[in-house]
Amino acid sequence: MLAVRGILHVDMDAFFASIEQRDHPEYRGKPVMVGAPPDRRGIIATCSYEARKFGIHSAMPSRTAGRLCPHGIYLPPDGKKYAAESREILAILRKFTPEVEPVSIDEAFLDVTASRSVFGDAVEIARKIKARIFHERGLTASVGVASNKFLAKIASDLNKPDGLTVIAEEDKEAVLAPLSVGRLWGVGRVTRDALEKHGYRTIGDLQKADPQHLRPLVGSRAQHLVDLARGKDARPVETAVETKSIGSEHTFETDTDDLLLLKRTLWGHAEKVARELRKQNLAARSATLKLRYADFATITRQTTFAQPTQDETALYEPLERRLADEKIGRRKIRLIGLTARALEPPSIQLDLFDPSAEKRRRLAQAVDDLRAKLGSRAIRRLGD
Ligand SMILES: [Mg+2]
Repeated sequence: MLAVRGILHVDMDAFFASIEQRDHPEYRGKPVMVGAPPDRRGIIATCSYEARKFGIHSAMPSRTAGRLCPHGIYLPPDGKKYAAESREILAILRKFTPEVEPVSIDEAFLDVTASRSVFGDAVEIARKIKARIFHERGLTASVGVASNKFLAKIASDLNKPDGLTVIAEEDKEAVLAPLSVGRLWGVGRVTRDALEKHGYRTIGDLQKADPQHLRPLVGSRAQHLVDLARGKDARPVETAVETKSIGSEHTFETDTDDLLLLKRTLWGHAEKVARELRKQNLAARSATLKLRYADFATITRQTTFAQPTQDETALYEPLERRLADEKIGRRKIRLIGLTARALEPPSIQLDLFDPSAEKRRRLAQAVDDLRAKLGSRAIRRLGD
C-alpha cells in the first residue's frame, strides 16, 4: 500500500498589504488597502486584516471601499516589490523540497512526501516553513497540510491569518461535508447553481451522490466531482517551468488486461518522452503513469527520481513497477500514458556521479540522431 502523500498549500496572508505594513511601521494595526485609489474606477487588490473589519475585501471596487473606510490608508500596488518578495518566499519553500508549484504570486503547493525523512513529518515541515518565512521575511503565511492538493488548499483557508491546519485522512469527509459545493475545484457559478437546484448544496450531499444521477448535470465530470467531494485528488504537484510536462498516451482499440502489451506500450511512451526531453534539453524530476480503466475511472501514479533524468530506462522502470502494483486483470485498461514532470535543464554534474547514466545518455543521443536521419522505425534498441 502506498504511503499517504504529504502535500502543503502555503498561502501568504494579505500579501501586498502585509508587505507594506512590514516596510512602513506607521501602517501597522491600521486598515491598509492596496489597489486603485478610492476616488477612481478600479478595485482593491489586497487589504489588511484591519480593513476587513470595515467589510472591505479583495476585488471590491475602490470607491465602495472608500465609502466604508474613508480614513484608511490607500496605496498604489508596487508590482516589482511584490514579485521580488514572492521569489524570496519561493526560495525558502524550495529549501524543503524541489517539488514546489507556484499557483499565483502569493500561493504555492509543495509535495513534501520525500522530504519527510529529512525535515520531520509534513506538519513539522509546515511549522518550519512558517517560522522561516516569519523570521526571514517578516510575513505570515497560512498553511494547509493534507494528503492531496484539493484538501491542502481547503485546509489553508480554514484558519487565516497565520494558520496551520491539518486535514487528517480519517477526517477528510467530515471536514468537507458542511462546505458549499462551490468550494470544489471546477465548480463555477453555473455548475453550482445547477447542483443546488437539484438538492446538492453541500459537499456532503455530493459524497452520497450516485455519479449516474449527476451525469445529466455535470456530464463526464460526475465521477471526478464525487471523488473530490470524498477528498480524493490524485493530481501531482507540478514544478513550474515553461514546459510544464511532456507526455505520451495511447488508447487501445480494445480494452486490454495483457500486462505484456501494457508494458510494451509504456516502454514506447518512455522512449518517445525521453527523446523529446533530450530534444528540448530538459530533465524530469518526476513522472506519472496514467491508467484509464474500461469504466473510464482514471488513476495516476507518480514517481520521483533521485536525480533529474532524460533517460527512457530511468523513466520506465519505476513506472513499470507501479503498473505491476495495479493488479491488472480485475478490470481492463482503456488507456495508458506516461508524463514527465517537474522539468528542468539537466545538470552535467549529476551524470558524473553515475557514469552508466552518462553512457546511456550518449547512446540515446546517438540513437536519436540516427532516427532523425533514417526515420523512427529504422532503429530499435536492443531488447525492444
Ligand atoms: Mg493569500
